[in-house]
Amino acid sequence: MTPSLPRKDLFEIPDGVIYLDGNSLGVLPKGAAERATQVINDEWGAQLIKAWNTAGWMALPQQVGDTIGRLIGAPAGSVATGDTLSIKVYQALAAALKMRPDRRVIVSDSGNFPSDLYMAQGLIDTIDKDYELRTPAPQDVMDAITEDVAVVMLTQVDYRSGRMHDMQAITQRAHAVGAVMIWDLAHSAGAVPVDMAGSQAEFAVGCSYKYLNGGPGAPAFIYVRPDLVLDVKPALAGWLGHDAPFAMELDYRPAMSTERMRVGTPPILQLAVLQQALSAWDGVDMQDLRAASVALSECFIQEVETRCPTLTLASPRDPNLRGSQVSFAFEHGYAAMQAMIERGLIGDFRAPNIMRFGFTPLYLDEKDVVAAAEIIEDVINNDLWRDPKYHVVSRVT
Ligand SMILES: *Cc1c(COP(=O)(O)O)cnc(C)c1O
Repeated sequence: MTPSLPRKDLFEIPDGVIYLDGNSLGVLPKGAAERATQVINDEWGAQLIKAWNTAGWMALPQQVGDTIGRLIGAPAGSVATGDTLSIKVYQALAAALKMRPDRRVIVSDSGNFPSDLYMAQGLIDTIDKDYELRTPAPQDVMDAITEDVAVVMLTQVDYRSGRMHDMQAITQRAHAVGAVMIWDLAHSAGAVPVDMAGSQAEFAVGCSYKYLNGGPGAPAFIYVRPDLVLDVKPALAGWLGHDAPFAMELDYRPAMSTERMRVGTPPILQLAVLQQALSAWDGVDMQDLRAASVALSECFIQEVETRCPTLTLASPRDPNLRGSQVSFAFEHGYAAMQAMIERGLIGDFRAPNIMRFGFTPLYLDEKDVVAAAEIIEDVINNDLWRDPKYHVVSRVT
């Protein structure tokens, strides 16, 4: 029988810590350190360069891609891994623009994560054509998808508020006007059920260090709709996306699969750790995960609002419109979060005033949520955030 949720025994969570930041950096899975040590000693150390073949390193990116694929409703072979999410955004966007050569407009939204917007701006700058990036407010996106749009590029779940776009409706709208659809699943993969194949969207990208627990700097992923792979022109034409890397041909010829979205040498240590991390998802039904996530989030909102009437919910109240995080706005949110962290509740802060709490049903239960609410009550109602030591701003918030 597969274990139900949560599966806390599969993770190393420090004593005395309630971790509501798995939406930013997932926790350490058990076995990850052993796997890394094994790759370092038994594979790299003992087998040296032979390990690319003997230890299966060359196949690892695709194996990991297939495992992620199951969690986002993507068929085997349709997800490539490597690089960082910012790079994968660039690749998807560059390929999508090439698919609509007569159009010049990219639509995103003003709630998108800055790096996605910066990558779009940088790409426009590089190709030096009269492209335009439009960033309407998230609730106005539907109306902004007009007949002149080449590409719609959105992050499904807003990193600040947790507000979730309707993937089906927006993709349909994009296709109705002839635009290409790119979904960023940074806060969706491992957080909410995603049906990539059913959505018919052309591209999706995401990272693996948030809800998938791959560790800091773990590789990103990119999905390409299988019927389009051979039409996709990779903008970053690296040798490992070549059809025959070791033929050392002078001219680029893309692989005849999603592997054409690979660029250079894969990060084997990180991929091995990620593969171990993904084993915690074996047998997890994403509908069960969603039900647990909604239950935890609803319990959290109720507990916090009852105890702290001065905090303002900054996430949609309807759970159907939310991903797997809950945010509260508070003027002194940064200092309050530092006070909570000192008391064992780890969430994070996003400027200007958002305290963010992520819900990861693989390793959280209702007791954690109530204990978190008690700490928030203590910090807010007793003004503990006023202590000057909580007002020193660190580099990472
Ligand atoms: C976390 C996140 C990123 C981060 O990109 P990296 O290249 O992995 O640093 C980008 N976009 C979104 C939407 C994110 O949530």
